[in-house]
Amino acid sequence: MPIKINVPFSQKDEAKQKGAIWINDAKTWVIPDSIENIDPFDRWLPGDGFIVKFPYLICKSSRKCWKCQKETPLIALAARTYYTCDLASDINLKWQKIKYPAFFVSIRHMDPVLSQILIEKYPFYQEVPAKKTGILTWVNTCQYCRTIQGDDYNINNPGSPFGGYLNEKKTLFRGKNMQEIQLRFDYYIDGMLFEGDYYWDGFSEAE
Ligand SMILES: [Zn+2]
Repeated sequence: MPIKINVPFSQKDEAKQKGAIWINDAKTWVIPDSIENIDPFDRWLPGDGFIVKFPYLICKSSRKCWKCQKETPLIALAARTYYTCDLASDINLKWQKIKYPAFFVSIRHMDPVLSQILIEKYPFYQEVPAKKTGILTWVNTCQYCRTIQGDDYNINNPGSPFGGYLNEKKTLFRGKNMQEIQLRFDYYIDGMLFEGDYYWDGFSEAE
């Protein structure tokens, strides 16, 4: 799917010259899928973070709430293909396209189109201030008692992700349900990323 970019009116000719396309009914400029290198559009992209390419995956699991002991649902956003500017494996590119399964934790910001869908469909998934920093972060809460679900294995590490995504064996999403979210454009997300099948092999059928 195309990537939305935020082009001021005064720069529209430049964006068009680089290959951007105006989507009239959505009132936005986009980078079409045919363009692999998105660096020329960097000034119109959000700062750091990730741009998730289709399919837009959500994986589902559940865990026993540490407080009320009831089995409560969990979700995590996941990707098969995404752009990132957090890696430096190719020094010639700022935004690198990665084709490798990953899911996102410690999410601080996501495209409002996406967060609106999550708020409606998964009300236990909420934006709350992080304990140490106060920065709003998306976490799984218990759907019964509303308690934030922590990551057991790293509870003593204040800099680590939290939000109920993982357990001691880092297998909470392993082999679990995965669905696609319907979106018109690729979405932007800022957070941390867990890569690959060490943490999660939800892309394969069997556990
Ligand atoms: Zn609970």
